[in-house]
Amino acid sequence: MNQRVCIVNYSEIKLKGKNRKFFEKKLRDNIWYILKKNYIDFNLHQEFGRLRIENINEKDVSKIKEILKDIPGISTFYFPFIFRRDEENILEKTVELVKKMDFNSFGVRCKRVDKRFPLNSQEVNVKLGSMIVQLGHKVNLDSPDLKVNIIIYPEEFHIFFEKERGLNGLPIGTSGKFISLISGGIDSPVASKLMSIRGAEIIYAHFFNFTNDSCGVKNKVFELIKIINKNSPPTKLYLIPFEKLQNEIITLCPPKYRMIIYRRSMFRIGNLICKKEKGKGFITGDSLGQVASQTIENISAIQNSSKYPIFTPLIGLNKEEITEKSRKFKLYETSILPYSDCCSFLIAKHPETKGNIYKILEIETKMEIENLENETFNNSEIVEIE
Ligand code: ATP
Ligand code: MG
Repeated sequence: MNQRVCIVNYSEIKLKGKNRKFFEKKLRDNIWYILKKNYIDFNLHQEFGRLRIENINEKDVSKIKEILKDIPGISTFYFPFIFRRDEENILEKTVELVKKMDFNSFGVRCKRVDKRFPLNSQEVNVKLGSMIVQLGHKVNLDSPDLKVNIIIYPEEFHIFFEKERGLNGLPIGTSGKFISLISGGIDSPVASKLMSIRGAEIIYAHFFNFTNDSCGVKNKVFELIKIINKNSPPTKLYLIPFEKLQNEIITLCPPKYRMIIYRRSMFRIGNLICKKEKGKGFITGDSLGQVASQTIENISAIQNSSKYPIFTPLIGLNKEEITEKSRKFKLYETSILPYSDCCSFLIAKHPETKGNIYKILEIETKMEIENLENETFNNSEIVEIE
């Protein structure tokens, strides 16, 4: 069977100075893990400033493309035809390959890594261009049908016609561990995906209420995490039964403060998860001013109950922008399936929009719900997600 090679490029990692090796290793580990998980045969090598995946079966090429496009840290990748420098004539070899392609216009782009090569890049472009013109094709440098890319290394030539774009960002696991508070909505899954592209290793926490359609929403959250985490190392989800605590809050707290207290209670339970998991912070899907709980006053009052920093990558985006990202990450169709979030359980018609932290602390002191929060945390179910 025909064996192929894939060259994987990264950009941001290259700026990491002394830590670069750590970032490169994480990227290699992540690629290795996910290709193995998909039963793909390959060998993986670190080269200077890029990775080389070798011994790929032709039948796996499209699967690998799909996977690499979803692995944070990769800027571009391509599957070149590779020729040894001492054996082949680069111009003739390229023309031979070009003859097999179906196209009208073309452009040539040569990069000379080995500056000792007798022709400079521009000379290669011109010479090769005129050879291809003689075959009856037209030059179009702006938007050619066929992009003829040549890279000249000391030992070998790479020729390729397509270069795939990756997600960029940083390899998962290089920015530390985070707890993502995930609902079944549109926003928090997008926030999680964006943070994973910034290198976050994410553990998920979802609060549910039995009286809501808990089974439906639990499955939905599980499906959303599977999409976010499809090409990432395994993770886990804490499913936290919120009903008892919510009933207590409903009994003891004035309706207009319920939403704020629910969310503060979520963070206090989240603190316990973060401590247990050695997390460094939280991720939420908050967007400033989108709903009543997201005014600056309420966000501040809610976040005040967290002992850890809270990362809200959607804070400055509007719903349209978030929806666009949700579609791009293939989350949207699952996110819009009907569900009821436990936070909407018995909240006031006109909730407080300017939560005052002193007033809230006063209400909470009287409620004495700390034991119940510990009990709720202890009753959470942990689901492993491959
Ligand atoms: P989303 O679309 O993510 O549900 P939202 O716009 O509906 O967000 P809220 O319902 O106010 O906004 O929730 C704000 C954030 O609180 C969510 O993005 C999520 O991070 C967290 N959150 C809300 N409900 C839950 C829940 N049941 N379990 C875990 N976290 C939740
Ligand atoms: Mg919501």
